[in-house]
Amino acid sequence: MEDFEVVIIGAGICGLAMALALHKKGIKSVIMERSESLRNVTGAAIGIRPNGWRALDQLGVAKNLRHTAVRLRRTPWDGETRCLRRKDLIDTLYAALPLGTVKFGCQLESITFGSQSTKHVLRFIDGSSILAKVVIGCDGGKSIIANFLNLKPTKTFPLSAVRGLTNYPNGHSYNHEFARFTKDNNIVGRIPIDDNLVYWFCLQRKDENVWEDPEVIRQSTLELLSNYPQEIRRMIENTEMKSLSVTHMRYRVPWDLFMGTFCRGTVTVAGDAMHIMGPFLGQGGSAGLEDAVVLARTMSQLGSDNGESKSKVMTHGVEEAFNQFVKQRRMRVVRLSLQTYIIGMLWGTSSILKKIMYIMLLILLFPYQHSHTDYDCGYL
Ligand SMILES: Cc1cc2nc3c(=O)[nH]c(=O)nc-3n(C[C@H](O)[C@H](O)[C@H](O)COP(=O)(O)OP(=O)(O)OC[C@H]3O[C@@H](n4cnc5c(N)ncnc54)[C@H](O)[C@@H]3O)c2cc1C
Repeated sequence: MEDFEVVIIGAGICGLAMALALHKKGIKSVIMERSESLRNVTGAAIGIRPNGWRALDQLGVAKNLRHTAVRLRRTPWDGETRCLRRKDLIDTLYAALPLGTVKFGCQLESITFGSQSTKHVLRFIDGSSILAKVVIGCDGGKSIIANFLNLKPTKTFPLSAVRGLTNYPNGHSYNHEFARFTKDNNIVGRIPIDDNLVYWFCLQRKDENVWEDPEVIRQSTLELLSNYPQEIRRMIENTEMKSLSVTHMRYRVPWDLFMGTFCRGTVTVAGDAMHIMGPFLGQGGSAGLEDAVVLARTMSQLGSDNGESKSKVMTHGVEEAFNQFVKQRRMRVVRLSLQTYIIGMLWGTSSILKKIMYIMLLILLFPYQHSHTDYDCGYL
């Protein structure tokens, strides 16, 4: 059975950032990803706020990424915000990793403690198994590693999101800012990526259908937005078909984040596997980038061999590093998740009374609604 020191499950934004952060600290890791290639199309684009840029700066990839998207004008105190094509972000993180870091087509089926050693046995759906001293679950909202840690299952908001990219070959005329339109209980957001490409999303009360066919997604979105201005409908009509997707929004309830045990021995979770949240603040991905910086820092301080071979990790040190990681991250993700939870409930309810209650809670708990962007994950 092949034997690894550090195994990351999942090559999404968090898994790739995690491997890169560890690599920058001299700690070798391998990522096991179930897809046959990088999942760099789904979701179309992602907004990165100042806290996310701080993490990307630490990972050494911010400079290149800044060239791929215009800086958005919001309010003067909001700092740097850009909307990146997911493909640009994921491809850039991947390209910064040593060749062969990601093993594709490896879908984890189960994880168990090895009977003969302190290592974990990771079993994959093709029947193969490997041993791993350290396991970091970056396997998203339905994480097998989170189950292993006995975390409660994630839940779904009564909302779903359609997302897409629209290219304007002769340029669009929109300002470089986030525009939001609300009508008939639907919310449409439009954000320019550059002078030709626009990212848009449409939030709607949950539709039980999970469409995969892009043409069906486009037609049903157009039907839903039949009362919207022609300009919005044209944007959706002209969407790049391969960029279209529908997502039912999942979240981990804030009190589970407050109470949950996010590490056990040398196994932990990060990114959506730890703290999946509604997209209402545009922070889930950036929080995963922050996780990567903090976890690699604590691993380097406490868990890696101080000798010439930093690729060897020390079990006791890693346990301590993971405890520190969870300690440093817990309240940050509890606050993000609580704010998104209340916003999600506010948008998802039709009861006026409940709406008033949620608004009051937001004012009370989050008087400065953008303070989450001030967070600094610190040096790698
Ligand atoms: C509508 C919407 C809009 C959003 N907008 C923003 C935004 O503007 N800004 C922002 O910061 N965030 C945003 N987010 C959140 C952001 O997309 C997520 O937080 C982020 O993509 C999570 O990354 P991840 O790597 O943790 O998980 P994922 O992206 O889910 O990646 C998990 C990876 O693990 C792999 N995997 C899963 N199970 C296994 C297994 N058993 N074996 C092997 N591999 C496995 C998957 O194939 C995948 O590659 C948004 C989310 C939604 C739904």
